[in-house]
Amino acid sequence: MTIRPNRPLSPATRLAQALHHVEERTGALAPPIQPSSTYARGADYAPRQPYIYRRDSNETTDHAEAIIADLEGAAATLLFASGMSAACAVLEALPPGAHVVAPGVMYHGVLQQMQHHHATGRLSISHYPAGDLDAMQAAMRPGQTALVWVETPNNPDWTVTDIAAAAGIAQGAGARLITDCTATPPCCTRALELGADISFHSATKYLNGHSDVTAGALSVRDTGALWDAIAKMRTLQGTVLHSFDAWLLIRGMRTLMLRVARQTENALAIARHFEGHDLLQSVLYPGLPSHPGHAVAARQTDGMFGGMLSIITKGNAQTAIDTARACRLFYPATSLGGVESLIEHRKTVSGPGFDVHANLLRLSVGIEDAQDLIDDLEQALRAAV
Ligand SMILES: *Cc1c(COP(=O)(O)O)cnc(C)c1O
Repeated sequence: MTIRPNRPLSPATRLAQALHHVEERTGALAPPIQPSSTYARGADYAPRQPYIYRRDSNETTDHAEAIIADLEGAAATLLFASGMSAACAVLEALPPGAHVVAPGVMYHGVLQQMQHHHATGRLSISHYPAGDLDAMQAAMRPGQTALVWVETPNNPDWTVTDIAAAAGIAQGAGARLITDCTATPPCCTRALELGADISFHSATKYLNGHSDVTAGALSVRDTGALWDAIAKMRTLQGTVLHSFDAWLLIRGMRTLMLRVARQTENALAIARHFEGHDLLQSVLYPGLPSHPGHAVAARQTDGMFGGMLSIITKGNAQTAIDTARACRLFYPATSLGGVESLIEHRKTVSGPGFDVHANLLRLSVGIEDAQDLIDDLEQALRAAV
């Protein structure tokens, strides 16, 4: 198998060709799947490196990791069975008693796991309002804070955090910065190049893009003790991404650029159409000049803002729920980043403990025709009032 990272070529070329992959024996352009759970020792009875047992790693997952590492400009990438198992591995790899600074509103699963570690006394968590760098700075305990977590743009109102500034705050206090930029995958935002130490993505979302895999990716700027501890956690817990799912992920990533460009175009068209709409209180999308994070987002995404936006309906929570129910094209499903459009009433999904506007509908815009999507939302909004 030949995998040739080739940095001077543009990301679109590298992605489309899956790192110029050609199977040497047959010339096949599609990469193989290697499902073996175990590997025979060599004639000298020594284990054949690097593959011994699939709970450590396998060739197909390594290939998918090489594609992401190349895209991120990372020293290394690890793929997990889900975004959550990747996030949990990071938290569990921190030394007992470590202090973590994280947004008060963020992806609910990661927040719940942080709260669990805090409640059991293994980690101590301080929260800052998402995007508020002064509050982040004030929450730092120099010498004790091990990790600063940033989600940008942040679920579900798409608050934008300046990654370079956050890296300065974290590293200035001796901590590491981890970014969750799931909503703007590495064809938009390369967090390591902006100063983050670890880049987290739920690869379930844009990286795979077809709503048929759960996967999580961690990429690191410099390997070291924390990275080794994270990798060990993956092996011990058996959360390495399965080779079949890695193969689907490779296939999905080959069209990442095309999909996200189209999703951005569609999201912009929808945001522009519904901004100031008589049945809406607001449209939240970093691609709109009216969004408070617009300028930073434009810089951090090369203008490719992604397909995630939220709308806040007039009326009450029931009006919002009825709007989601009345859609014919947008599926009423959780998750994001797939080729098909989804709509979700966040308050219903995240539950009462989370600080989410009761009328907020989160849209994950797919690659369908923009006018069809606009027409669907128009009829749903009118049906709900
Ligand atoms: C989905 C998601 C996660 C969790 O990833 P899974 O693949 O669902 O485990 C974490 N952060 C964000 C922003 C997400 O959207």
